[in-house]
Amino acid sequence: MTSTEKTQSQEYEFQTEAKQMLHLVIHSLYTHKEIFLRELISNASDALDKVRFESLTNPDILDKNAELKINLKLDKTAKTITISDNGIGMTKDEVVQNIGTIARSGSKAFLEKLTGDQKADSNLIGQFGVGFYSVFMVAQSVKLVTKRAGSDEPAIAWESKGEMSYSLEEVDKKEHGTDITIYLKEDESSFAEDWQAKSLVKKYSDFIAFPIYLPDDKGKDELINATKPIWKRDPSEITEEQYEEFYKQACGGFDKPLTTIHNRAEGIMEYASLLYLPTKISPMELYNYDRKHGVKLYVKRVFIMDDCKELLPEYLRFIKGVVDSEDLPLNVSRETLQDNPLIQKIKKAVVGRVFSKLEEIAKEEPETYKSFWKEFGPIFKEGLHADLDNKEKLMELVRYQSSNGDSADDLTSLKQYVSRMREGQKDIYYITGENRAIVEKSPHLEIFREKGIEVLYMIDPIDEFVIPNIYNYDGKQLKSVARGDLDLGDLGKEEKKEKKKVETKYKKLAERIKNILTNQVKDVRVTTRLKDSPCCLVADDQDMGANMEKLMKAMGQEVPVAKRILEINGNHPIFLNLQDIYKKDPKNKQLEEWVNVLYDQALIAEGQIIKNPVDYLKRVNDLLETASSTAKESMVAKEEEKA
Ligand code: ADP
Repeated sequence: MTSTEKTQSQEYEFQTEAKQMLHLVIHSLYTHKEIFLRELISNASDALDKVRFESLTNPDILDKNAELKINLKLDKTAKTITISDNGIGMTKDEVVQNIGTIARSGSKAFLEKLTGDQKADSNLIGQFGVGFYSVFMVAQSVKLVTKRAGSDEPAIAWESKGEMSYSLEEVDKKEHGTDITIYLKEDESSFAEDWQAKSLVKKYSDFIAFPIYLPDDKGKDELINATKPIWKRDPSEITEEQYEEFYKQACGGFDKPLTTIHNRAEGIMEYASLLYLPTKISPMELYNYDRKHGVKLYVKRVFIMDDCKELLPEYLRFIKGVVDSEDLPLNVSRETLQDNPLIQKIKKAVVGRVFSKLEEIAKEEPETYKSFWKEFGPIFKEGLHADLDNKEKLMELVRYQSSNGDSADDLTSLKQYVSRMREGQKDIYYITGENRAIVEKSPHLEIFREKGIEVLYMIDPIDEFVIPNIYNYDGKQLKSVARGDLDLGDLGKEEKKEKKKVETKYKKLAERIKNILTNQVKDVRVTTRLKDSPCCLVADDQDMGANMEKLMKAMGQEVPVAKRILEINGNHPIFLNLQDIYKKDPKNKQLEEWVNVLYDQALIAEGQIIKNPVDYLKRVNDLLETASSTAKESMVAKEEEKA
């Protein structure tokens, strides 16, 4: 066929579904109009991929020296944008099939969900993405000229104003590929500005594998995208500086990353991930769930979204970086991601990578791991509550301070704890509290110190909430030192014997004390825990612990009041004295005052706030008054003796 024999332009009607879709795009879609450029560039990139792929088996279709590329041309006066590619192109039939009808399953599913309610429908459209048709958000008409690579068929021009119909006409075009010219609507002309096109390319298409050119002031083609993204490159080719640069420029990093996790997976699932563990936490990002950065999702190098929460669990929210999938559709959105099985698989794989890296650092660079832990440990521990599938791994990675270490700098793993357990020790012991200084001095630790049994310090608020999920490590139970009847097995034999001995002796006094503290305690019993302190409070097996109670209250939660058990030290001089006084005068009024002081002191010792500080102070002052007069009297007596 020669050009003189070319067919006349012919009008065709869009398929019904296509009409429906176009109507919506034109009349109901007002937000994110800019994405049309991303969609068209991505189509061009696909077309370039296809021609390269076909040339593998059919080398003739592609000129070996030709550069595969995308060219943008902007005309501010005519208000047009032209996007050209030298990709695979389309035959006439392909144009009718691909552009005139809707075959994509996503769009079909979309159309099935349409309600006719404009507002609801325009929400939906955002979720599905409309590919090529999105151009009609900004275009009053579109002309597409295309020639199929490796085909004798003439080039074809497709033209449409959207809505009802399009025209087809054979035209002259020698090179394979597609040129799309967008005639912008009057009020969308800013898309024809250089800066606008450049910034949209930077935002959405920077890492498209093919070069995108835009003529500069002098009409020379200027490359406006980065082409090969860092995450697609071989890690061995990338310097630490380059990783760091990308972290700061593209991932919102403001410090030096603690470590970089770069992987490229091929096979059933093809994706690349480049993740960074920051050194420092930014409180803004930590507590503000509307984070800007986090992990960005790309599909085939096309930017899809910032902070894709479906890629990593919440307890890894401090990680930044990029995941680029080859298999996800371009039109994924937050709504459709949630139940996308593929994203679940990627997430699982990515989390696995993070774990392996953390395990590696913990083993090979303990100091680095320690600084990671100090910064992110409290967040990471949320995983023990939220991610039961990874519980075993998480338990190997958690660290605690303990009575074995001298300072907050000494951390232990559960494994290390177990390796230090004393012979005959059955359980793993922990204490919860507000900070190290408080728990370290807790009366509850006295027996453990004496027996040389290590106790883990659980002093992050989150610990209280996740302990029920750990309960057991390496076949050993985790037990609170401040809960239930303490059973140290063989290690506590003597104390048990001692307790039996004094129990009967203190039976009556214990009852009297229980009467005095009837509103505060559930029971009073002789202890096996204490060595130096006169008494302490313990939670009953099933009841909420004191620290948990405090945390819940701080969060404004209603807390059921659980009375605790007062355990008294039968060998302590105070109780030996009280016992004597009680024997002589069971109704003694002072007993009441002293018992109240002892109770309040037990609370203070564990960092609790006492109910009535004024009463407490008055009681202690009375005691001091008596004590000082006694001291004075004895001094006077001594002086008189001397004289
Ligand atoms: P999708 O890209 O998701 O398939 P689109 O509506 O964006 O949906 O495009 C429909 C089809 O039109 C594409 O699948 C492709 O076959 C064809 N197409 C669009 N743009 C081009 C192009 N620049 N070159 C070749 N074919 C194209």
